[in-house]
Amino acid sequence: MSNVESTSQLMQCQTEAPKAQVEILAPRDVPLGGLRAMPVRRTLPQRQRSLIGAWCFCDHYGPEDVAVSGGMHVAPHPHTGLQTVSWLFSGEVEHRDSVGSHAMVRPGELNLMTAGRGIAHSEVSTPSTTVLHGLQLWVALPESARFTEPTFEHYVPQPVSIPGGTMLTFLGGDSPVRTFTPLLGAEIRIDDAVELPLDPSFEHGVLVDAGPVSVNGTDAAPSELAYLPVGTEAVHLRGPGRVALLGGAPLGEQILMWWNFVGRTDAEVREYRAQWQSEFERTATATQFGVVPGYTGAWIPAPEVPTTALRPRG
Ligand code: MN
Repeated sequence: MSNVESTSQLMQCQTEAPKAQVEILAPRDVPLGGLRAMPVRRTLPQRQRSLIGAWCFCDHYGPEDVAVSGGMHVAPHPHTGLQTVSWLFSGEVEHRDSVGSHAMVRPGELNLMTAGRGIAHSEVSTPSTTVLHGLQLWVALPESARFTEPTFEHYVPQPVSIPGGTMLTFLGGDSPVRTFTPLLGAEIRIDDAVELPLDPSFEHGVLVDAGPVSVNGTDAAPSELAYLPVGTEAVHLRGPGRVALLGGAPLGEQILMWWNFVGRTDAEVREYRAQWQSEFERTATATQFGVVPGYTGAWIPAPEVPTTALRPRG
C-alpha cells in the first residue's frame, strides 16, 4: 500500500532545510489483553500503513496510575514470527516466558523476545509500580529467520548526549542485541531541538511520547507516529519532548498478522491458533509454545478465528 495524499501540497519559497514528506499516523484506543484490560494507543498496524521497516506493531500506554487502572496483567499467550520489544518510561514489568526467561523491564532497559517458531510469555507490572508508562513494539521476522529458535535478551543502552538532547539506542547502532533485518530503535529526549542524520535506505517513524514535537516541520502530538519515507536524510525534532525513533530497511515481504501471530498465509495462522488452543486445553500431543514457569494463573485462550480468509499486508 502507498499513500499519495500528502504529496498533493507543495511548499514554495522554502528557506530552511528541505522538508521531507511527513505522514502523521493517528493512534486508536485498544484494550489490551487479559481479564483486566489496560488501554493502549495503537499506531501500527493501521489501514494506511502496516509496516515501518520490519516494525509491525506499536502500542503506547500511560502514564497511568496503577492504583486506578490495576496495572498490567497479561497472562501467558503465544507469539510466532516476530520479536517483541518492551521499553518503559515509568514502572516495572515482570517478564516470564516458555524458554525459561525471567526478567524485569525497567525504564531505559530493553527486553527483546524473539518468538521465532513459537513462544509463550506473561507480562505483569510489579507491586512497587505506581505509574505505568511505555511502549510495546513488535518486529516482523523475515522469511529467512521466522522459524528461528525462541530466545530472550536484555540490554541496557548507555544514554548518549547529543546536541539539544539525549539518545538511548536500544536496537541498531551500538546495540548488541540480535535483529534479523537492518533496524533502528532509540529513545530521544529533546531539550529544545535535535537534528539527526538518518540512513536514507531506511524508512522511519517518530512516536511522540511527550510533546507536541515538530518532526521535519510537521507537528505531532503525543501518541502520534510521524512517518518519514525512504530517502529522508535527516530528522529535525523541535521540542521539548520525548520520542521513540523507529527505523528500518523496508521488509519487502507481505506478512499476515492475526492476534499474536505473524505468519504468511491464512492456513498457517489458523494452524498456530489450533496449536495454541490444544496446548491451552492440555490436549496437545506436541508442544510448540510451551508453558511459562512461575506463572500460576490462567492462560489466555485464542479468540475465534474469522470466518472469512485472513489476508496478508505489507
Ligand atoms: Mn506478548
